[in-house]
Amino acid sequence: MEKTLSDIKYNYETIVENIAKAAIDSGRRPEDITFLAATKTVDPVLINYAISLGLDHIGENKVQELLSKYDSYDLDNSQLHFIGHLQSNKVRQIVGKVSMIQSVDSLKLAQEISRQSQKQGITTKILVEVNVGDEASKSGVSPEALDELLPQIALLDNISVDGLMAIPPICENEQKIRGYFQIMRKLFIDISHKNIDNISMNTLSMGMSGDYREAILEGATLVRIGSSLFGARNYN
Ligand SMILES: *Cc1c(COP(=O)(O)O)cnc(C)c1O
Repeated sequence: MEKTLSDIKYNYETIVENIAKAAIDSGRRPEDITFLAATKTVDPVLINYAISLGLDHIGENKVQELLSKYDSYDLDNSQLHFIGHLQSNKVRQIVGKVSMIQSVDSLKLAQEISRQSQKQGITTKILVEVNVGDEASKSGVSPEALDELLPQIALLDNISVDGLMAIPPICENEQKIRGYFQIMRKLFIDISHKNIDNISMNTLSMGMSGDYREAILEGATLVRIGSSLFGARNYN
């Protein structure tokens, strides 16, 4: 455990430095980029240790796991996001517990988030997930479908669209992955220029352990980092 804590501290500081450098290299300030830790499979003791170092955004991608860890997170000092595939019938279990749902990929899901948020008298922030590589294995809406979906979501009560999220295909080279990030940035900018009521383009969530520097250079405002912070995941 002691070794793990010192590893996490070293990793945390390294990532914060890398983020700051990429921010400056892309003409922004370090504080313009949000560092979210993807905490699937990670023990809340380790998550809270990272929060004690200054980490202030965490994200889970399974409802069951989020609920089982929920009472253990230090949420006085961090915001909890949902970043995984979400089924409509599980929305009720997380609305009110998370500050943002990053992975909205259908009108049906948005409608259910709206309905559950109304019941609780709150507004839930969401990102729309884009399947930027058009991969059959991944969730998210195709870039072409965004134009139709966004105005429909915009009409729903108690939901506010804060931006876009993407998990691009695994690429063999840096140029290729940067190409996907560029497509996302263009969508993000084009949509923000449309000035749709109730749709803000504040958050562009893209970049993980292997490619967060490139993502920031291409315009990401939020990166989701797991294994570079906590080490390789142990699923058992
Ligand atoms: C696990 C996960 C990440 C982080 O992946 P790493 O490669 O470990 O940094 C980012 N985004 C989502 C949606 C994830 O599920």
